[in-house]
Amino acid sequence: MKIKNTTDYRNSLKALNPRIFYKGKRIEDVTTHPATLPHVRSAAMTYAVANDAEYEDLATTTSHLTGNTINRFTHIHQNAEDLIKKVKLLRLLGQKTGTCFQRCVGFDGMNATYSVTHDMDKALGTDYFERFKKWLIHIQDDNLMVTGAMTDPKGDRSKGPSGQEDPDQYVRIVEQRDDGIVIRGAKAHATGVVNSHEILIMPTTALKENEKEYAVICAMPVDAEGITMIFGRQANDDRRDNEERIDVGKPRFGVVGGEALVVFEDVFIPHERVFMNGETAFAGDIVYQFAAHHRANYGACKTGLMDVLTGAITYLSSVQGTQKGSHVRDKITEMILLSETLYSSSLACSLEGKATPSGAFLVDTLLANVCKQNVTRFHFEVARLALDLAGGFIATLPGEQDMNSEEVGHLVKKYFVGAAAFPVEDRIKIGRLIEAMTGGTALVESMHGAGSPQAQRIMIMREGHLDKKMELAKILAGVSRDSSASAE
Ligand code: SF4
Ligand code: FE
Repeated sequence: MKIKNTTDYRNSLKALNPRIFYKGKRIEDVTTHPATLPHVRSAAMTYAVANDAEYEDLATTTSHLTGNTINRFTHIHQNAEDLIKKVKLLRLLGQKTGTCFQRCVGFDGMNATYSVTHDMDKALGTDYFERFKKWLIHIQDDNLMVTGAMTDPKGDRSKGPSGQEDPDQYVRIVEQRDDGIVIRGAKAHATGVVNSHEILIMPTTALKENEKEYAVICAMPVDAEGITMIFGRQANDDRRDNEERIDVGKPRFGVVGGEALVVFEDVFIPHERVFMNGETAFAGDIVYQFAAHHRANYGACKTGLMDVLTGAITYLSSVQGTQKGSHVRDKITEMILLSETLYSSSLACSLEGKATPSGAFLVDTLLANVCKQNVTRFHFEVARLALDLAGGFIATLPGEQDMNSEEVGHLVKKYFVGAAAFPVEDRIKIGRLIEAMTGGTALVESMHGAGSPQAQRIMIMREGHLDKKMELAKILAGVSRDSSASAE
């Protein structure tokens, strides 16, 4: 059934039966459980904006496979304009949810898989590309949410997949059958998986020739037999359980993406859903392309979050009567400067995107890595400035129950008040929003999502064209051009 709106999306999730655990108990319905509902709402926004005439041009497009109108999150980028529209869409959704809306991981995974299966077929005579396109049309036509699952638990990080004492530390094929494969292992911190329809598994690293069983790309429904998810805890998640809505800070939406450990205990995947089966030489390509797409996103979705934070602190400054201070204005200026610098980076790597042999467009990979690396710094600096301007009251802010208490409520309201024009509840609510967006697990994703900072530094060094840059310097300095210095 095609999902048209947020109600369809919620109903489609109710129709699934994934095995999810949280605090030791099974979650029966992700659309009502207090731990998962905020993430369902964030992802639902990707369906909502597609039905809004104002955002239709960003949120929907035409499938190059069927000619049908589709949600952009199921699209294969056909040109640089598609990449730019994605960036604009992600910033918009970051502004509307103030958190991760999760659907980009599968989006990026599908784009990378499209390109790499094309290349595999050309080089090896396999038929993965056609299989993948069939599956993709099903995703596009039904408007399904796909989570991309790449990161393996990795066990002893000094060793690769084949060196592990426990071979399940990387997802692997344990059986080849006439009609498909059986996989075992786990994927770590899979964003949005509990409220997705399908999982797209990809290898997490380049592989050696003797690591064929780890070279697997495949897709399956989230409730396929043998899959168990263990949903991660987030800072202050008990506040949601108790329905202390003000104390949550951002009552409708989650803190980060709603990550889970996904375990595959001998899950059968039929051949038509297998898009790589032992082709180790292409494992590095899928990681490279997926990572570039996902790193390009962060200057967009996280900029949306920084917009919310900048707005929150600007409003709080008015509530507290500090808005005219020159240092306050200067720090808010810095927050805007940092946010727009990141956004520029996302736009730049999209504008410089190029067609892959499959026709799918890939962002400029060096610029995408620079973009994500800067997110690991600038988002933290924006958060630091927000906390600087907010003042210490966030650390001593009483709970909602104290605010409503007959005995002490009047004291809370008397001593947490700001400028007379603003209700005290507004100061408390905005304080809680800033707390939710700067503390605990809120910024972990900006550091490690789409790969930890060191992963970007490796790519930046590798793609920095130092040989060409040395040539430039040598020409200008009149240094002999055949001297054999190397950047390696
Ligand atoms: Fe999308 Fe950003 Fe969440 Fe990644 S972190 S899934 S790019 S919203
Ligand atoms: Fe992410």
